[in-house]
Amino acid sequence: MLSLTFLGTSAARPTVERGVSSLALVREGETLLFDCGEGTQRQMMRYGVSFALTEIFFTHFHADHFLGIIGLMRTLGLQGREEPMRLYGPKGAKKVLTNAISLGTERVPFGVEIIEVEPGQVIRETGNGKREAYGIKVFATEHGANTIGYALIEDERPGRFDPEKAKAAGVPEGPLWGKLQRGETVVVDGKEIPAAGIVGGKRKGRKVVLTGDTRPCAGTLEAATGADLLIHEATFGEDEKDRAKETNHSTARDAAQVALAAQCRKLVLTHLSARYSISAEELLTEAREVFKETIVAKDGLTIEVPFAE
Ligand SMILES: [Zn+2]
Ligand SMILES: [Zn+2]
Repeated sequence: MLSLTFLGTSAARPTVERGVSSLALVREGETLLFDCGEGTQRQMMRYGVSFALTEIFFTHFHADHFLGIIGLMRTLGLQGREEPMRLYGPKGAKKVLTNAISLGTERVPFGVEIIEVEPGQVIRETGNGKREAYGIKVFATEHGANTIGYALIEDERPGRFDPEKAKAAGVPEGPLWGKLQRGETVVVDGKEIPAAGIVGGKRKGRKVVLTGDTRPCAGTLEAATGADLLIHEATFGEDEKDRAKETNHSTARDAAQVALAAQCRKLVLTHLSARYSISAEELLTEAREVFKETIVAKDGLTIEVPFAE
């Protein structure tokens, strides 16, 4: 299972309807948090996101993307947490996050490791070993100095096993089927039977891409190629496209053009200007003119990401 829950979808400041940026990704029972704007912990409670997480990934350090870490770390401390926490972010993360988590007089009573990552890097390690069948690729975005996005990319899966074909080839049900499923050749009555023909070709894993704040850019386009889900910021509508350029943000149409060019399966728009807090119909219409499979996020929205095949 792979699902995402939007905890905050407003740009720059919270509104009555929307909190600032944060997104929870749950995969096979593991929870990862991407950005942690002010009020994220309360949104986690409200929308049932587990506090038993060990990694938070930051896209950049504008206040609307990280202030929530201050309170979240205190709450985790009060809960008696002992497990270490890993925080990832672009260059500058160590300084900003060290300051944020040491603000005030309490001390965070568990270990915190802050890791600065660079575009091109694939994060395979976790605090307690290897990531299970996926990596997180860091890519460059265009939103001022040191801003990044993240792509969760699953490994290829084994091909589909066809029990009828196995039986027809004379392989009895049992441990030999397991070997075939792993792609191994088996021997029955002295005869070698290869897995190919009984097990289909390898199947693609899923890819989910999160831009954080950015202009439409080459980094996103490359990272999002063939993505099952692209989560792209869309701060403005077409009537403010000049402002989007000046402030290093995207319009809904910009985001849709990236999704189209990258041949994504689905696009979710988030990080909306306060103007669209109640209704984002205008953004949706503008994006759908370019890329039909678009939706606009709202706080509490959960999206499942199924396998393409
Ligand atoms: Zn922002
Ligand atoms: Zn920003």
